[in-house]
Formats: sequence, structure tokens, C-alpha cells
Amino acid sequence: MMIVPPRADGSDLDGPSTWGERGVCPFCGSAEVIHRVIGMVLAGADDDAPPWVEFSGCCGIGPDRSCLSCGEEWWAGSEDPRHAARSR
Ligand SMILES: [Zn+2]
Repeated sequence: MMIVPPRADGSDLDGPSTWGERGVCPFCGSAEVIHRVIGMVLAGADDDAPPWVEFSGCCGIGPDRSCLSCGEEWWAGSEDPRHAARSR
């Protein structure tokens, strides 16, 4: 099922699963990373989402990744997430 929102670089489309890799925090290295899905998703699309995926809906504007350990937020796919987070 393809419910991953479109990305400019298409990086998530090549992920190992529907939800891609959870990854680790670029700030503290923790694996407690939350993926925010921004934009509309199909009804029921979140039923099989892992617990670390949040749905922000069409009103979501924030960075699409956040860390439960250190609270940092960043955009997935940023070449330098630390710099991107600071500049937003
Ligand atoms: Zn962190």
C-alpha cells in the first residue's frame, strides 16, 4: 500500500517498507525517532502504521521528524538536518 507522502527527492519511495526506515536522531543518535506524516492520508492508512508514526494531517507544517530523547525536530532528507533545523 502506497501511502507515503510524495517527496521532492523520492527518498522514502525506496525504503525497505511502507514506512521506510525509522532511522536515528541526527542530534543525539537515539533510535527514538518519530515520523510525522504531513498531509492527507487515505482512510485507514494509519491502521498499520508503526507506533512511531504520527499523523499531522493537512495542517501539519512542522518538521517531519522528531526525537523522543532530546526533543529536536528536523526534516527527513535534509543533507544537514542540524543546520536545517537551526535555520527554520
Ligand atoms: Zn535526539
